[in-house]
Amino acid sequence: MAGPSDEAAPGGRSVLVTGGNRGIGLAVARAFAAAGDRVAVTHRSGDAPEGLLGVRCDVTDTASVDAAFGEVEAAHGPVEVLVANAGVTKDQLLLRMSDEEFDQVLDTNLTGAFRCARRASKGMIRLRRGRIVLVGSVVALYGTPGQANYAASKAGLVGLARSITRELGGRGITANVVAPGFVETDMTAALPEERRAAYVAAIPAGRLATPQEVAGVVRFLASDDAAYISGAVVPVDGGLGMGH
Ligand code: NDP
Repeated sequence: MAGPSDEAAPGGRSVLVTGGNRGIGLAVARAFAAAGDRVAVTHRSGDAPEGLLGVRCDVTDTASVDAAFGEVEAAHGPVEVLVANAGVTKDQLLLRMSDEEFDQVLDTNLTGAFRCARRASKGMIRLRRGRIVLVGSVVALYGTPGQANYAASKAGLVGLARSITRELGGRGITANVVAPGFVETDMTAALPEERRAAYVAAIPAGRLATPQEVAGVVRFLASDDAAYISGAVVPVDGGLGMGH
């Protein structure tokens, strides 16, 4: 009979990926689903991707986060793996950045991840197991001109993961940050061509990552093989940040 932490348990684990309707989040959701997990994704508009349970959720709204978790719990059981992936950019030079541009990015990327982790921890504490993976960025520790808000939000995720680790590490719960470099998604498609070329020139791997390459690392951190990894920042950046 399968034990409580047996990944091969029939039906797999209840996994929730925020912002899982496109980009990196969708690749992550598909990777878990392909491995047999019960996967839910949040989306704000449109339909959920085929084959995945879609729940409406705006991570800037605590009630919406609570309702989304309620729906996932009803359909799939308590969330055992949370991937806090929803994120936005609102780039602007420091001097011109408005309070709103700063606050909106923090509210989605950092406070949104906090709201989801707090809600997920309820069920995880009861289960005495859980995996929290926060999608950060190489920019958190590297910095980028024009992204003071974004870099601050992603750097904040490191403190969040490490504090969760210290609070809940003894309950079979891990919290880690995956820090992608530049990944082929809508977010990077919006970059001006010359900026994109400059980034590629700076990346030792000489190319952007695919969303699937990020998904593989997220899945690893949620696997039994990573049971003793917590509070870590795992780069997936082709060497751009040199392991920081
Ligand atoms: P996309 O812009 O392709 O997708 C962003 C996702 O976040 C969408 O699903 C979007 O939902 C969701 N989202 C945004 N705001 C909210 C909100 N308030 N509530 C709920 N969902 C929201 O981004 P990527 O796939 O490129 O990025 C995913 C994550 O990876 C982000 O956290 C990003 O910062 C990070 N990252 C991306 C890198 C890259 O190069 N692409 C590099 C490093 C990190 P909707 O469809 O409704 O807008």
